[in-house]
Amino acid sequence: MRITDITVVLHERRSVPSAAFGPARPVPLGVLRVTTDEGIEGNAFLSSPGPGPAQIAYQIVTHIKPWLLGEDPLDIGRHWRRMQNQFHFLSPHAVGTVDIALWDIAGRAAGLPVHRLLGTCRDRVPAYFSSANHDTAQAYADEAVYWQQQGWKGYKLHPPRAPWLPPDSSPPIDFDIEACAAVREAAGAGMTLMLDSSWSYSYTEGLRVGQAIQDLGYHWFEDPFPTHDMHSYVRLGRHLSIPLLATEINPGGLAALPPWITSGATDFLRGDVVITGGITGLMKIAHLAEAFGMNCEVHDSYNALNNVAGLHVMMAIDNCDWFEVLAFNRAGDHSLGQLSYGLTEPFAVDSCGEVHAPAGPGLGAGIDWDLINSAVVAVAS
Ligand SMILES: [Mg+2]
Repeated sequence: MRITDITVVLHERRSVPSAAFGPARPVPLGVLRVTTDEGIEGNAFLSSPGPGPAQIAYQIVTHIKPWLLGEDPLDIGRHWRRMQNQFHFLSPHAVGTVDIALWDIAGRAAGLPVHRLLGTCRDRVPAYFSSANHDTAQAYADEAVYWQQQGWKGYKLHPPRAPWLPPDSSPPIDFDIEACAAVREAAGAGMTLMLDSSWSYSYTEGLRVGQAIQDLGYHWFEDPFPTHDMHSYVRLGRHLSIPLLATEINPGGLAALPPWITSGATDFLRGDVVITGGITGLMKIAHLAEAFGMNCEVHDSYNALNNVAGLHVMMAIDNCDWFEVLAFNRAGDHSLGQLSYGLTEPFAVDSCGEVHAPAGPGLGAGIDWDLINSAVVAVAS
């Protein structure tokens, strides 16, 4: 089998009424199409964050396409290495996106779901609802209880602090502690709770919040400090027993992670199929974690199709306990529609709060081409 063409369809998603994107406005999405001489096509979606779909598409058709044309798409490890070695031209998003599409081809060629090619460990994984930013502690508590009533076992707060927001626009950390306490009070002891502080605390703030959520029985404390501040993670770990979770967006991928493990800066590794090198890169990170007796908790992968790709990885490893559902919902909105955008089948979590392994060949998700083609702004080729 040979690769015959690589294009990216750039689609303008016209209205996304969610907390992450502010007022309704166009949000770009790209669909990568890798075609072969056997009529098999592999796909992946391109979205934010990072340079954005148009820039990622440019990198793919300019730097990857010329040498991938005519190649065997099943030589995924070789292609992955060559892409990784072009880090001075390529963003990790370009590498990850192409890698996902190659795995999609491999699965379709074999007539098997990708997780079966990777080595299936299980057929389902529990989901946790991962909040957007809310203005009141009650909004977090209400949301956690709503998902608990749907059978879900986990909930994670994102308080309104983030390094990309103006420092004077976010409330003091007292709000974060109040919100975490309100969720525990409302959900009771039976729900697994996590806090993601989005790299936004000073050391003393992290220590205070960490002690508070440790006392509240939280499961993990995620990203309290900026990614460059490994020293503060190490210090914090010496003072707290609650596990710390870091490395979600650390630059450098696999090769940058060993110091975080050996210094004790984090108790989990973190990655997703978009920014840590696709399915190939995330599997490597999960195996690195496994060697140290650690979990690799897979991060939300930013769009519907890549979340499916991340789910295949989770089915093929046994050191990830949770599927993150990051819907960016405003308070009171319990829609999961965003998690299906661009796909023919809705994203589903069962009445036990679990997500099931995709069953179809390749990624096992159909693309809603009627929707994509209804708002095409360009095709990168
Ligand atoms: Mg996070």
